[in-house]
Amino acid sequence: MIRFEHVTKRYDDGTTAVDDLSFEVAEGELVTLVGPSGCGKTTTMMMVNRLVEPTSGRVLVDGRDIADVDPVALRRKIGYVIQQVGLFPHRTVLDNTATVPSLLGWKKAAARARAAELLELVGLDPAVHGSRYPAQLSGGQRQRVGVARALAADPPVLLMDEPFGAVDPVVRERLQNEFLALQATVRKTVLLVTHDIEEAVRMGDRMAVYGQGRIEQFDTPATVLGSPATPYVADFVGSDRGLKRLAVTPVTEADLDPVPAEDLVPAEGSGPAGGPGSAGGPGPDHPSGPAHPSGPAGAPAPVPLGTSLKDALAVLLQHDTGRLLVTGADGRPLGVLTPAGVHRALRRATTG
Ligand code: ADP
Ligand code: MG
Repeated sequence: MIRFEHVTKRYDDGTTAVDDLSFEVAEGELVTLVGPSGCGKTTTMMMVNRLVEPTSGRVLVDGRDIADVDPVALRRKIGYVIQQVGLFPHRTVLDNTATVPSLLGWKKAAARARAAELLELVGLDPAVHGSRYPAQLSGGQRQRVGVARALAADPPVLLMDEPFGAVDPVVRERLQNEFLALQATVRKTVLLVTHDIEEAVRMGDRMAVYGQGRIEQFDTPATVLGSPATPYVADFVGSDRGLKRLAVTPVTEADLDPVPAEDLVPAEGSGPAGGPGSAGGPGPDHPSGPAHPSGPAGAPAPVPLGTSLKDALAVLLQHDTGRLLVTGADGRPLGVLTPAGVHRALRRATTG
């Protein structure tokens, strides 16, 4: 959907901001561009909507060299969210959100209806917040309006430059999660710039790690963390990359141990409560029997397959039982995750 072919950008003062960059973002994919300040992330992003023109090479959007596309027409298909949000201070939240549809010539009522819909989508009540001015919102709410405005004309492509940078870490994590939930429905092609490795890992289907004007590695967060391509990348992702990888590695069946017999207790109170191995009680050999595993007193609630190792480990650490029951899509127990299983999973993720 977005394709860079040997793109170099040299500014008038001789600064080479981007040097022979080639990469591709698939339709519906969210790619994060991460790297230290001044490494060329914003320059890269602004070459997608022609706010910056390449010195050499070409950028294609939806198969077309954008050098041949009228910039105004191009930008209508590309939502743009920036850290400073850039809301018009003298316009209400509703009118701010309706900006692009209005520019596109929608009838006022239609543009406002669309704006109200988008505000709701990002978790703001149009009846409450729509008539406010940007100064009357919290930082997090303003960021939400920025996202709503960028999505209002339903552009296939979204560019986000440090979109959650201006809020505190707690609000930032909430906005990140909200955006991921939103993205699961709207499936835009997204380029998201950040200097925050945690954000790049959490948000990206794939991530581009920038050195000076170049991409050092372009891959899934799990691979970047598990197998950094260069010493620079290893240093950038941090010596705790093993821990970071927990967040992007799901629990799979291969990581589980069998459910111990003592964790399987009769369902209907038909035996001594919690009696380990009660006579006639269905064991692991009879998984369809009327047993439900509950585990010892104080055992954590089961988690479904696909839960991140990070979340699973957090639950494990809060309980003394040392194992965590993992269930399949149908709710049936598949096995237990132990600290050794977590370790195995990490080894698997490294070599895999
Ligand atoms: P990032 O977004 O990764 O912080 P930028 O793309 O903004 O990096 O900048 C990359 C490099 O290009 C930096 O050295 C920056 O100073 C320089 N730069 C950015 N914009 C201009 C400009 N308009 N004129 C000259 N140099 C610029
Ligand atoms: Mg920047």
